[in-house]
Amino acid sequence: MPVLSLLLWMALAAGLGWWFSGGLAATLGALVVAIFCFGTMVWKLHRLERWLAGPDLHSDVAWRGLWREIAQRIQRLVKQRDRQVAAHEQRLQHFLQAIQASPNGVTLLDEQGRIEWFNDTAAAHLGLDIRRDLLQHVVHLVRDPVFSRYFAQNQHDAEVVIEGRSLSAAHGVKLSVQLHAYGEGRQLLLTRDITSIALADAMRRDFVANVSHEIRTPLTVLSGFVETLQLIPLPEKEQHRYLDLMAVQASRMQSLVADLLTLSQLEGSLPPGMNEKVQVQELMTQVASDAQSLSAVLSGQDGDQRRCVHELLFEPAPAWVVLGVRSELLSAISNLVSNAVRYTPAGGTIRVAWSRDAEQVTLSVSDTGPGIAPEHLPRLSERFYRVDRSRSRETGGTGLGLAITKHVAQRHGGELRIESQVGKGSTFMLVLPISRLEPQA
Ligand code: ADP
Repeated sequence: MPVLSLLLWMALAAGLGWWFSGGLAATLGALVVAIFCFGTMVWKLHRLERWLAGPDLHSDVAWRGLWREIAQRIQRLVKQRDRQVAAHEQRLQHFLQAIQASPNGVTLLDEQGRIEWFNDTAAAHLGLDIRRDLLQHVVHLVRDPVFSRYFAQNQHDAEVVIEGRSLSAAHGVKLSVQLHAYGEGRQLLLTRDITSIALADAMRRDFVANVSHEIRTPLTVLSGFVETLQLIPLPEKEQHRYLDLMAVQASRMQSLVADLLTLSQLEGSLPPGMNEKVQVQELMTQVASDAQSLSAVLSGQDGDQRRCVHELLFEPAPAWVVLGVRSELLSAISNLVSNAVRYTPAGGTIRVAWSRDAEQVTLSVSDTGPGIAPEHLPRLSERFYRVDRSRSRETGGTGLGLAITKHVAQRHGGELRIESQVGKGSTFMLVLPISRLEPQA
């Protein structure tokens, strides 16, 4: 169209020139119109170029005709491109959010091994700071020699374990790290916190070592006696003495196996529900009678001579009903009372009482025994942790009693509390939430 109008204007100018002065004027007229139109076109192109280079391509232009149409088409294309860019940006944000949400640390490395991006988990694992550490070489920041060696290898098929740098954790953090190649020479560094797995592994190894040790000792003693009995012809009285000693070792192993089974049952079963009812009075009658017998056995007297050598003060048990598992509660309370009897020297006093307030119901076992130094208290309920190792052995302890009691308390929604003063005695408390007490009629 503009070409047509240019031709029309040129024809008009040529016609007018012809009409006024003949052929030369016609050519001149057409030329003037052509030059004018060309000039106008150049100016408008320049205007278009300035507009394209300017910051605002979206607002309406005040041009007309072909130029307005060109501007509008450009605006439509720009809008379409903006929409595509926004969609890509949104998708990228979704990817980044997904990687952020990952429980594992993700760090992107460029071809030179410099850090391009990392998620918050990686920052926490490796102690990275987004403002400080971008574009730093990863080996300069992850300074574990195991990692440096691993990074220098060509193959990264397996993961390696390094020390993490978490500032929040009280003790060492163990990280499993692995490099994965992607793109052209880029690498993805994945980190996984395996502290709890490593801890559980170490605990399992310790546990197996402890159990083996606990079983090996009585077994060695037993096999020694068996060998002696086989090789040396002993008088009958001596034989009986040996057999008695063998029976003690056998019963030690039986107690250990029984406690191990109790622990594994506690760990492998669902927490107690609220359906089973335990009569506190009936439970305490059994505990008191067991405590009397134990005190008598520990007195070292023979046969009929045996009598309780402690002052056992069982306050009258309340007529309460506890909602829980009877066998577990009996085992937990018996452990506390038998410990008090075993560790309190003859003549000492042991007091057992139930109490309650608005929130909890408590069974407390106090003794006038040797007491326990504060540094041992937090570790008492660890498996096989003993303060007085020889007393524990002498009295048939397995080192698992308090671990069982704590487990039972926790399974019933409660806890085991210990208060003790060296030289004065100890109080062990089995604390249960008040919801475990059946409301009284
Ligand atoms: P054990 O079978 O050795 O008694 P426990 O788990 O029952 O194992 O107790 C752990 C340790 O706590 C005991 O070895 C003992 O040293 C200490 N302990 C437990 N109860 C008492 C107590 N009433 N008085 C003093 N020490 C105690």
